[in-house]
Amino acid sequence: MSTGFLSVDLDALATNWRALDAMTTCETAAVVKADGYGLGAGKVARALVRAGAKRLFVAVAEEGAALRQEVGPNVEICVFSGHMRGDTDMIGDMMLTPMINTVGQLTRHLEALPEHPFGIQLDTGMNRLGLEMNEWASIAEIALAQNCRLVMSHLACADEPENPMNRQQLDQFHLMTDGINVPRSLAATGGILLGPEYHFDLTRPGVGLYGGQPFTDAEPVAYLDLPVIQVRELEVGETVGYGNSWTAQRPSKIATVSGGYADGLIRALSNGANLWHGAQPVPLVGRVSMDLITVDVTDLPELPGTLSFLGPDQTVDALAANAGTIGYEILTSLGARYQRRYAGG
Ligand SMILES: *Cc1c(COP(=O)(O)O)cnc(C)c1O
Repeated sequence: MSTGFLSVDLDALATNWRALDAMTTCETAAVVKADGYGLGAGKVARALVRAGAKRLFVAVAEEGAALRQEVGPNVEICVFSGHMRGDTDMIGDMMLTPMINTVGQLTRHLEALPEHPFGIQLDTGMNRLGLEMNEWASIAEIALAQNCRLVMSHLACADEPENPMNRQQLDQFHLMTDGINVPRSLAATGGILLGPEYHFDLTRPGVGLYGGQPFTDAEPVAYLDLPVIQVRELEVGETVGYGNSWTAQRPSKIATVSGGYADGLIRALSNGANLWHGAQPVPLVGRVSMDLITVDVTDLPELPGTLSFLGPDQTVDALAANAGTIGYEILTSLGARYQRRYAGG
């Protein structure tokens, strides 16, 4: 078998949820969109519910419908994209709570499912999802008189504590929601770390649960080990991989490892990342191919059966930094070909 192994530590996931929960005095939900940030929404969601999460968030209704089968009827599942055309049956049958983003969505919801719970998403400056001030003013009274469970907004710069945008959005959220009698939510992972002013009644952490920045104290959750398929000896001057982008400067041992950009080992990592054998780093050399990478193992005392790509010595954020991206993209790009193993939970 040559597929890589993606191991998910569900105990570390639960520990991260509890640590984020302990930073606030309010309810802590969990965001499990994009297949639980690439780690498997069903398994991840069940572990988070066991840890104490009572409310889960997904991006689209289809994710919510699939999740309902995994977690049963007693957990609230909220959908960030709201109530789109074609979502009504899923929202009704699968008991999903859409976060309404436009006046049109509210009209659709109240006409199609009048008694069914919903939330409201407000735009406080990110200009992505949610009602703006004037739209909210025109429908707030109607919405709040119906089965509205939550009023939320999202911060654009919460991973930069000094950014004045945070205070600006906080002020705008107060302006739009002070005095309402419905629970409010503003903070994701970054917002939790900004402090109690940002917590309101419910927080919505995602990336911090999965071991990513900006939650620096997170325990690693994802481990990726890739099998070595073949090892060869190179003489000085020989080249490796597409485009001859790496040349041996000394007699070298090159391991060909199973895993490539089709598995989320993004091509920008070419000639710019390490794999690990225990605590010893070994450089990825040459270009990342679709299914394979090549690694300089000349300095290893023995030839290992697998090399580690994600683990205690190389976090998703360390890898992201090498590729010029963020931990979120590394996690959600992890491919479908890996054998997934779940520990704990
Ligand atoms: C993705 C998302 C979250 C979770 O954000 P993290 O930075 O991963 O904690 C929370 N709220 C909304 C609206 C989101 O889109």
